Formats: sequence, C-alpha cells, structure tokens
Amino acid sequence: MVVDISTAIFIFFEDSMSTIAAISTAPAVGGIGVIRISGEDAVSVAERVFKARDTHKRLSDMKGYTAAYGYVYASCGEKLDECVALLFRAPHSYTGEDVVELSCHGGLFLLKKVLEQVYLAGAVPAEAGEFTKRAFLNKKIDLTQAEAIASIISAQSEASAAAALSAKEGTLYKRIEEISSSLISLSAHLAAWTDYPEDDIEALDMHAIEKNLLHTKEDCQKLLASFDISLIVNEGVETAILGRTNVGKSSLMNLLCGEQKSIVTDIEGTTRDVVETSVRIGNAVLRLSDTAGLRESEDTIEQIGIDLSRKKAQSANFILAVFDVSKPLNEEDFALLETIKNKRAILVLNKSDLSAVWEPDILQKYGKKTVYLSAKSESGFDALINAVEEELGTKDFNPYAPMLATQRQKVCLQSAYESVIQALEAVQLGMTLDAVNVCIDSAVEALLELTGQRATQRISEEIFKNFCVGK
Ligand code: GDP
Repeated sequence: MVVDISTAIFIFFEDSMSTIAAISTAPAVGGIGVIRISGEDAVSVAERVFKARDTHKRLSDMKGYTAAYGYVYASCGEKLDECVALLFRAPHSYTGEDVVELSCHGGLFLLKKVLEQVYLAGAVPAEAGEFTKRAFLNKKIDLTQAEAIASIISAQSEASAAAALSAKEGTLYKRIEEISSSLISLSAHLAAWTDYPEDDIEALDMHAIEKNLLHTKEDCQKLLASFDISLIVNEGVETAILGRTNVGKSSLMNLLCGEQKSIVTDIEGTTRDVVETSVRIGNAVLRLSDTAGLRESEDTIEQIGIDLSRKKAQSANFILAVFDVSKPLNEEDFALLETIKNKRAILVLNKSDLSAVWEPDILQKYGKKTVYLSAKSESGFDALINAVEEELGTKDFNPYAPMLATQRQKVCLQSAYESVIQALEAVQLGMTLDAVNVCIDSAVEALLELTGQRATQRISEEIFKNFCVGK
C-alpha cells in the first residue's frame, strides 16, 4: 500500500499522539544519564516529576532552549536525584514536539527509577526509533536524514562519521529533490501538451526532452556508483588474501593488521583455517581473510581449510593475490590468475628483498595492478596501500558529496534509473507522449519513495525499528 505523507501521518499518529519517554543515553553506567520526554504533555509530565531548586521557577513558564536546575521526586515525595531539566518548545526540537530532557546522574538503577515516575506521571514508553520517527512525521527530516542519524550513531571512522553528518544535513535529500523537480517539471509540460493540445503551449522540443532525460540518467548513474564506495568506507569490502603456500600471505595479513593475526612459519600448510579480521586502509575498510594455500593436501584438516579458501576466493569482492618473486611461477600461480580474472584484484609480488627469478611483464596480460612488496622488511607497503585505495576508488572520497548509504536507497534509485531509461527509449523510438510520461511518473514515484515523501508504512517501520530506544 503506497500512502502519501499526510495519510502516513494519520496512520502513525493514531497511536503516537501520546507523550513518550525513554532513557536516551547508553544503557550503561556513566557520568550523566538523560531521560527524553516528547509530546503534547511533555512539559506537564516533567513538571510532575521535576521541581526547580528555585521554587518560583516552573517548567511551564520557561521558554524553549532554557534549562532549570533542581531535583526529581517520586510520587510519594521521596527525592530521587539531582537533575537539570532542558526544555525545547515545539516545533524547535528534535521531534518537532515539546521536549523535556532530564539529565540525571548516570547510574542505571536510578535512571530506571526516575523513568518509572515519568511513566506514572502520564508518559508511555517510546518504541525503538520513535523520537526520530516523530521527527520524520513532523517533517523535521526526510527518510535519508533519518537513516543518516542511524549511520552517525554507528560510524566507526572519521570519513563515515563526516559522510553521515553531511547526509543528516540533507546533502542526498537536496540532490534527489533536484533530480525529481526536473522530472516533475518535464512531466507537467508533457501533460499540458497532451491534455490541452489546442492551447497555446510552447512547442515541444523532443531533442531538448531527450537531452534532459540523458542528463538525469547520468545523475542517477553517478549516485548509484557512489553506493559501492560508501559501502567500502562504512561497512568494508570482503577481501581475500590468496596465493600458493609460503608466498607470504600470513605475513601480509599481519603487516596489514599491524599485529600477529596469522601464524607465520616456513612449514607448508601452517594456515589451516580462514583467519578473519577488519583493517582500515586510508578511507577503505578491508574485511580480510587470510586463507590456506589453494593446493591439494593429504591432511584432512588442512584440506577443509583449503576448501574454505576456495569458497572465500569465490565470495570475496576484492583479492590480494600474492606471488613469490624468488621462486619460478608454477601451475598453481597461473590457476589463481585465471580464477581472479574477472575480480577486482591487486597482484602482490612478495619477497622483493630476495633476487627475483621472473619479471612482472609476464603478468601484464592479466590487466591487474602489480605492486612489489617485502612483507618481511615492509618495503613497498606504502605503494600497496596507495594501490588498494586507487583500486577501490576511496582515495579521493569526499564525505560531503551526495551519496547513497543504504540498500533501500539504492533499490529506489535503481528503479528510478530504469524508468528514466525507459522514458528515454520511448522518446528515441518516437512513442506517444503519454507513454513517455508514464515512465517519467514512475521515476518520480521511486525518488519520492527514497526521500520518504511517498513512504509505505512497512518501509518506514522497517527503518525506525533498527534504531535504539531513546533515539
Ligand atoms: P603463507 O604460507 O603464504 O601464509 O606464507 P607465510 O606468511 O607463512 O610466510 C612463509 C615464509 O616466507 C616465512 O618463513 C616468512 O618469514 C617468509 N616471508 C614472508 N614474506 C617474506 C618476504 O617479504 N621476504 C622474505 N625474505 N621472506 C618472507
């Protein structure tokens, strides 16, 4: 069921007119713990629990963005804790409603006791993500900004935090608005032409329409490409270190991790299992697995490790293929080069501190970047890092550019992109303007779904249920 935003508000507000409350800080012991109350009765609920030390001061008389120092009390009159109450007046708050935040000491036992009193005073427990859901329903933010808030909370690096903050400030939303506005004005023009042919409407320039659609197609392509990079920066790319036994895979793994994750020996088959870890290389995150060499073995346990390696080689999206320059290349090396032919990969020519017995030209026909490395002396490591960032496209990552950050956003944009291509084909084949307009309309629908202006109830609920309670 597709509902427009006003219907969506009606559906959600049937059960959301109540005043909600939750602990908004992490459920752990800390210096300060915050209870957030939001809704029409937020101030009166807070007033039943909180009393300012200055007995003349009342929350209901206070302006937005002001604070009062005092105490929180149980209904029996028992003083529970010291507290600072911070007041936000609608619509100038996170949710767009009246909000009171009670900052108490951060002990969980005490916070729960205060929250119990807030419930007794008339608030109901907030569901996961309900504060942010209300911000969305009150049009404080669109869906891409709501998703960005979840990303800010889970960001693990400077680049992903900056990108999430930029999305929260509406970078993606503005870009999608630009694309959909251009399609909407094109659609309106086409509709006016087909519906009122006798009126004096500016003649249609099919060449200009085609140009406009081609431009929109490129905009969509750019945004779709941004998803792959944002995924590598935020969640990481599954990476396998592959190569025959003893070429230095585990040494490379340890070098990348900056610590010993894999056992390094010169005994063949030392790495029997798949060792996994995540490392940050510049802006990129590699979800690494060091694998057993891909050779046949009599040893049952080692053979299981080798089978796991084969699976990893197939499932990984990025390969670091390691070769030993001090030993002639053999069948196993060439088999590996064939296996990774169609994969994103870097060929690491290891043991460059020893005399090389073959030249890198031999690998030229495979069309992959090659990097000389000595995992032992670490020489060539900077060049490897540089090559990894170049190959993954994260070197010039700009966190402030509009980019897609979730699978949901990608699915919506992909659907808009396909509709734009259909509209373009309809123009190029000389089909009726009605047919062109149907395709443009469905592209606009997909874009409005992306920003949440035409959200299905299921999609919105799916997004907010992944939030923590209190956000
Ligand atoms: P794997 O079986 O591919 O994981 O190889 P390892 O990382 O276990 O290394 C096998 C042997 O090669 C060990 O004795 C390492 O010390 C040695 N080795 C690894 N990298 C280098 C290197 O760059 N130069 C030299 N001279 N020896 C290396």
